[in-house]
Amino acid sequence: MATRTKDHYDVLGVAENASADEIKKAYRKLAKKYHPDANPGNEAATEKFKEISEANSVLSDPAKRKKYDQVRRYGGLGQFTSRPAGGTAGGGFKFDDLSDIGGGIGDMFSSIFDFGRKPKEDSGPTRGRNVEYLVEIPLKTAARGGKVKVTVPISEECANCDGTGASPGTDLETCPECGGHGEVTFGQGGFSVRRPCPVCLGRGKTPKTPCSSCSGRGQVRNRKRLSVRVPRGVETGQKVRLSGQGERGPGGGTAGDLVIAFEVKPHRFFTREGNHLACEVPINMAQAILGSKIKVKTIDGKKVVLKVPAGTQNGTTFRIRGQGIHRKDSQGDQLVRVVVKTPELSEEGRKAVEQLAQDEGLRH
Ligand SMILES: [Zn+2]
Ligand SMILES: [Zn+2]
Repeated sequence: MATRTKDHYDVLGVAENASADEIKKAYRKLAKKYHPDANPGNEAATEKFKEISEANSVLSDPAKRKKYDQVRRYGGLGQFTSRPAGGTAGGGFKFDDLSDIGGGIGDMFSSIFDFGRKPKEDSGPTRGRNVEYLVEIPLKTAARGGKVKVTVPISEECANCDGTGASPGTDLETCPECGGHGEVTFGQGGFSVRRPCPVCLGRGKTPKTPCSSCSGRGQVRNRKRLSVRVPRGVETGQKVRLSGQGERGPGGGTAGDLVIAFEVKPHRFFTREGNHLACEVPINMAQAILGSKIKVKTIDGKKVVLKVPAGTQNGTTFRIRGQGIHRKDSQGDQLVRVVVKTPELSEEGRKAVEQLAQDEGLRH
């Protein structure tokens, strides 16, 4: 999932020594052109837009830009780490972390653009956004239930500036992009669509001096550590909702929900078939012909003795009851498919099989 970060200067099409103003202008122009709402269904534009936003968030912040320039000079672009300058709870996260968020890019947009948020003065406390997060879990945890620890990056109102984006004690000015409306118009195939302004994030105002903790965005990203209960029998795509664990509402509003979406990791021995857990176990020719008792591992790591009767055919499936996926009201089985391996024989062995074939009338 690792996405290598592109060169931020190239992305914005500005020179290395570009002024803050030039960066701002380049960003505005590109953000408008590639905004996802102006390019519905266009993934290339979406990707481009993500790069533009990321580039701007770094280059528009003098401290981040300085650090980036240093890293860039030493060729370590992929490792560049963005840290909320305020250094609040948990510290930095890599850009790559963003790809771990369920809904991925959509979530990132929603944190950059506060869609639907009215200019600050008009609105009372608003409920915080819901955050969706994808969590990978081992098959065993899905089969038996349990708990997983997750660390969720969450955008929250910047405490330093109370979400205004302005350095404390400094003023806001009318946004030059939207003239204070908080919305801009995008042309789109003869229609024009009004959307929250990408420069002031729909607030209608921009800070004269951006807050140093949030680079004027009014939001910071924090890491939230949680222990999440995994229900027994959970399947990929299933979700649990943790109410009030999402983003804090702006202006003292109630927090949104955190929605955890599970993805069950493939297991090297078991594959899931509904509530059953299927596996393959090799047996040798003698075991197949003469019968045997073999030990088979269960998902719990226990070993169960399985009786293989004499004359077992290759591909026969045996059932170990109750060792599959456990649900509240049902228990699946473990399905063991035996695969007969043909041995490489010594010269004597080969002769013995020749003799056997002759005795038993096995043509070959
Ligand atoms: Zn701030
Ligand atoms: Zn604006």
